[in-house]
Amino acid sequence: MSLILDMHIHTKKHSSDSMLDPSELLSEIPEMPMSGINICEHDKVWNKHEIEEYKANNPQFFCSFGIEVATDYGHVVALGLTEYISGIHKLEKLKEEIDKIGGFIFIAHPFRYVFDKVTAMRQGATKFEKTPEEASEMEVFKLVHGVEIANGGNTPQENEFAYDVAKYLDLTILGGSDAHSLSGLGYYATRINSQINSQDELISALHTGDTDVMSLNKEEGTYEIYQPQRQLKT
Ligand SMILES: [Zn+2]
Ligand SMILES: [Zn+2]
Repeated sequence: MSLILDMHIHTKKHSSDSMLDPSELLSEIPEMPMSGINICEHDKVWNKHEIEEYKANNPQFFCSFGIEVATDYGHVVALGLTEYISGIHKLEKLKEEIDKIGGFIFIAHPFRYVFDKVTAMRQGATKFEKTPEEASEMEVFKLVHGVEIANGGNTPQENEFAYDVAKYLDLTILGGSDAHSLSGLGYYATRINSQINSQDELISALHTGDTDVMSLNKEEGTYEIYQPQRQLKT
């Protein structure tokens, strides 16, 4: 049986920019077609006691806990760490630590803001003109196990570009809402196409790469495989 997990959720417990109450989250999820969540706070992991208490409140529900680390290559979600290790803001160090413990890392929203003229101007950068194939050669993709190709906080263009780039990469594809409140929760998710019962099994399943990225069809209350809209560019 497959499992559909929203792999990218922030709660107000440890993410200061989130309004999402973790217990409110649990009461909302049975109403949704997804089967579980991965909470990943900004630069902070829940401690063992917090995790146990949270899981005990809803044992039927699959809850995984990661961390979204702000690195020199952008935001990277890591699974398997039990605490923030000093130095992991350098992605090479994060990868090293994760590989040591057999964890899993994926680059979150890899192309967020790259098409935004204001951001480009502010950073004094030139226009982003890479093709998806050229972008797939970027160093960051050599330092992660997976890539988030659909993120609820991205523009459609940013997601579409990541989707196109991922075709040239031998990386696991993931989707997540990046929800910071109840709105948008579950908007994108990752379907794990194998049986898993624990976070360790989730990590192994992610390493096999047998996933699909799912998009919520709100009217139907179901998930479908994510496909970019390919809107006409103006
Ligand atoms: Zn992020
Ligand atoms: Zn995030």
